Amino acid sequence: GRQEDLSVEAAFRVAIARTLKGGMRSATPLLRGLMNSLKVLEWAYVAEASQLSTRTLKKVALEEAAASSFAGSDEEMAAVAESDGLVFDGYTPFLIDHLAQGAAVRLGAVVSRVEHGDSGAMVHLSDGSVHEADYVIVTLPLGVLKCTPMEGGVMFAPPLSDAKLQAIDKLGMGTENKVLLRWEVADVFWPKDEPYLQCTDQRFRFLNCHALGKAGVLVVMVAPPYSIAMEALSDERILDELLPLLHATFAPHTPLLPSPVEVRVTRWTADPYARGSYSYEAVGCQFHHRSALRAPDGIDKQGLPRLFFAGEACSTEAAQCVHGAVATGEEAAAELLNAITLRATPQHAHQPAYIVCSCRSVFDASRSMILCDGCSNWFHDECAGVDASLFAEGEPFLCMSC
Ligand SMILES: Cc1cc2nc3c(=O)[nH]c(=O)nc-3n(C[C@H](O)[C@H](O)[C@H](O)COP(=O)(O)OP(=O)(O)OC[C@H]3O[C@@H](n4cnc5c(N)ncnc54)[C@H](O)[C@@H]3O)c2cc1C
Ligand SMILES: [Zn+2]
Ligand SMILES: [Zn+2]
Repeated sequence: GRQEDLSVEAAFRVAIARTLKGGMRSATPLLRGLMNSLKVLEWAYVAEASQLSTRTLKKVALEEAAASSFAGSDEEMAAVAESDGLVFDGYTPFLIDHLAQGAAVRLGAVVSRVEHGDSGAMVHLSDGSVHEADYVIVTLPLGVLKCTPMEGGVMFAPPLSDAKLQAIDKLGMGTENKVLLRWEVADVFWPKDEPYLQCTDQRFRFLNCHALGKAGVLVVMVAPPYSIAMEALSDERILDELLPLLHATFAPHTPLLPSPVEVRVTRWTADPYARGSYSYEAVGCQFHHRSALRAPDGIDKQGLPRLFFAGEACSTEAAQCVHGAVATGEEAAAELLNAITLRATPQHAHQPAYIVCSCRSVFDASRSMILCDGCSNWFHDECAGVDASLFAEGEPFLCMSC
């Protein structure tokens, strides 16, 4: 139902127990296998199944999980290999240089406080310097937004709206980590041409960068819960787990596995400027929380926002992904321009009516909206979780609150 949410793990248990007299204990190996398919979701959503929201998880994701094996068929893997793009030299030459053209970018500038009000905004850096601005686009990771100033987060003064704070609280920040290993090219002991490699240990999957143009490099992708636990372990301890596994899996007949010449371990949740890898729908969160996170905030006397938000967690189309982050940045820029235009239009001044929907966005005629028959408020399709074009003429619609 709409009111209560269950974790994905609990939902699976309830569903299985309901169909069996003896509950989980009398589950067949097949059903136990189904529980195992939760691992697929943990990989995809970077959180333990006990933390993932059933209500919000797209239906298709559950169906896919139920249908797919953990390993993935050859066809599935071929499709992944074809649709994925690897950005080998990082995003700087590929995306960031292009986006930063003409902009004054200050690296290593840690924001500690954002003040906003009727006359504009002031961004305080941890080195004590202050930058004045008319508007601020906030692209802090969700994990950083979740932190209090005491924990290294950013202070907003006045505080962010309740809707924004609730979205920050309800959405989850996941943990995927990677271990990057490099061997001398002559020492490569794993299959040289397969781009993706798997083993029987569900904690790890391998991206064979050797096959993809980075000689000698094997990237180990680590999913929850081990990705979380391993952040507390030393590199040596992690290698103690990994190297025997690689040895047994890919070089069982080699007496001694060669040592890697370079090891890098990510610890995204410990990183003070990330506090996690990317967002997920946590138990208790709802469809509108992503659009509430993206909504402009810091509404001033003129009824127009000073703060805009972008980043992967704000995306309703492609959360967790780079293209989702980029798209929300473009949307925030468009909304900012819209706000500048409205502010400069005298007849629109002093009329706060241009803020619409539960996400409190500046009205934008290009976005599809639907009218609630209960409260007569307009809602964006993605905020209401509907496609307005699929509603027949006169077919009633009620928003989440109604
Ligand atoms: C292990 C892993 C694998 C991934 N795989 C994929 C993938 O295959 N495909 C894909 O599309 N995406 C993938 N992603 C996700 C992708 O990296 C993110 O979705 C994307 O980087 C989000 O961009 P963003 O701008 O929202 O946030 P970020 O890239 O996190 O940018 C936020 C910026 O804010 C800065 N910051 C933080 N605090 C402060 C502060 N107080 N003051 C000033 N600056 C601050 C940070 O330093 C950072 O530069 C992966 C992520 C991880 C961790
Ligand atoms: Zn909305
Ligand atoms: Zn309503």
